Amino acid sequence: MTSQVLDVGTVITGTGDDLEDATVVVEDGLITEVTQDETAGDDRIDLSDKVVMPGLIDAHVHLNYTGGTEDYRTKESLSDEYLALRSLEHARKALASGTTTVADVAARDTTVLSVRDTIEDGVTLGPRVKSCGGMLAISGGRAVDGRVSGSIVEVDGPDEARKETRKLLMYYGADLIKLAATGALSSPHTGARDPQLTVEEMTAATEEAHKCGRPVHAHCYGEAGISNALDAGVDVIVHGQSLTDDHIDQMHDQGSLLVPTLATFRKMEDGIEALGERDRPDSSGGVREEAVPNFERALEADVPIAAGTDCGMPEVHHGTNPVELVHYVDLGMTPGEAITAGTLTAARSLNLEDELGSIEPGKHADMLVLSADPREDISRLTDSETIDRILLGGEFVEDQLTAYR
Ligand SMILES: [Zn+2]
Repeated sequence: MTSQVLDVGTVITGTGDDLEDATVVVEDGLITEVTQDETAGDDRIDLSDKVVMPGLIDAHVHLNYTGGTEDYRTKESLSDEYLALRSLEHARKALASGTTTVADVAARDTTVLSVRDTIEDGVTLGPRVKSCGGMLAISGGRAVDGRVSGSIVEVDGPDEARKETRKLLMYYGADLIKLAATGALSSPHTGARDPQLTVEEMTAATEEAHKCGRPVHAHCYGEAGISNALDAGVDVIVHGQSLTDDHIDQMHDQGSLLVPTLATFRKMEDGIEALGERDRPDSSGGVREEAVPNFERALEADVPIAAGTDCGMPEVHHGTNPVELVHYVDLGMTPGEAITAGTLTAARSLNLEDELGSIEPGKHADMLVLSADPREDISRLTDSETIDRILLGGEFVEDQLTAYR
């Protein structure tokens, strides 16, 4: 058994409780003790002038995409092998930013699942990757120019939704299920805010996911689609324009979470066009403008918020993941709350709160060692100079990531 004892100046646990002058004991990659009492142990690491917090979790990324403004058609012409290698590089950029877990929410076939598995098996270095495989959508709902992206699994009717969900879970080991409850900025056949999958289709998918203990994330723009997703019992509303008071009540009743992806919407406010939108400029239906007031409404109403960026979308580059938390603080969260959104609540959105997201006994030892306190200035998390060291499963990995920082 390998054991490390970290003597830490300040531990930000991720649960909201912070400890001064504490000791964190790590054995075989797991945190076994967090205490302010004297502890025994020879292999001690002096971090008494440092702040230690849980590794960040990004609950919404697209590792296949570059974060550049490439056309989707370019991506579709690339081989699976090319996309998998590119996805691994993107995942490593996230890890170098202090994001020790990323959830990919629509990738072609097994391109990201294979990245997940090679990392998990220790074949190569990367963050913990969770993947849904492809996203379930209605036939044609995400087709562009008559072509369907390999990251879309088309289903029509509850039986097909159930069958494809089972296949994703059983054949591919999907860690979560992603549903297209509505159109998108890049879907030309319906408006972004129009409902797509029906309540019955999403209910069938959600029942199957829940049998396997897997969470369901639903992409939603517009009131009707959010209502449909919530009525189907999904766990996470992604984007979520526009939440009504009734939605908020229902989310509280059902324990659902919101992943707001502000990193992307605030980039769009700056004039960055979404993929495909150039072909259909009226399709956004105001979702860009609504992102900020929507977030503020959710925050005010105490809807649990899990951090997710949509990294990979145009001009939202992999490795910029921590900026999401800066937006939350800009819009009214305290830095401590933003850190919880980016750690423990993000873990909850993936049903991983028993394994990840906080510095507590029994969790994986994924931690960041910081030279300055992000509770004084959250933007310090976006500065690689502040992140001295990155612990992944109890191993310091920052020296292997110098090319990505
Ligand atoms: Zn997305």
